[in-house]
Amino acid sequence: MGGTFDPIHLGHLVTADQARVDVGLDEVVFVPAGAPWQKAHDVTSAEHRYLMTVLATAANPHFSVSRLEVDRQGDTYTVDTLRDLRDRLTDTELFFITGADAILNILTWKDAEEAMRLATFVAATRPGYDLSALRDHDLTERVMLLDVPALAISSSDVRARFAAGRPVRYLIPREVEEFARKHGLYGTTGRGLAAAD
Ligand code: ATP
Ligand code: MG
Repeated sequence: MGGTFDPIHLGHLVTADQARVDVGLDEVVFVPAGAPWQKAHDVTSAEHRYLMTVLATAANPHFSVSRLEVDRQGDTYTVDTLRDLRDRLTDTELFFITGADAILNILTWKDAEEAMRLATFVAATRPGYDLSALRDHDLTERVMLLDVPALAISSSDVRARFAAGRPVRYLIPREVEEFARKHGLYGTTGRGLAAAD
């Protein structure tokens, strides 16, 4: 599952676990993007996003985090990551998990054909986004649709909440909240957990 994970939230974790069970995956590998070229806002350092993703997933034996994109120089492309994974995991069937908003972005890129040969794409329902656009691109046959409990959580909203001093509890894992406050990510002004409670 690729993403910026700035920060990782419960929508990501629920989607990953639902995919694991419904698709029958042995493992879900979270791949935080290195330098996302499509994001408008100032993205948090890759190392901080990587560490938050590790904190959020460490207790789950089916989840792991890859440094593939974090360690890669230059722009991040899903197809490069799939090529790398294919080379490393020769006996493994690959799936790429995305939300309804991200799937079209990925599958309208120039290397989409190759990406779809390397992995089966799984598109998860996400509140506020419509999967019917897949039909217009003749992709319904080639993409696996996944029903996920609707969680209208986004990293953008979580960042805005941090900056405004509004609660993020129950939207992101506690460890991620503590880490973000400790490092002053998202314009947190050191408002401690005790005060937030
Ligand atoms: P931002 O608001 O910064 O874009 P985001 O919440 O969309 O952040 P990303 O890191 O961009 O998070 O998303 C990573 C992947 O997770 C994408 O494929 C996205 O579609 C999917 N995703 C994110 N949030 C949800 C959610 N609440 N339900 C289902 N899928 C989600
Ligand atoms: Mg997004």
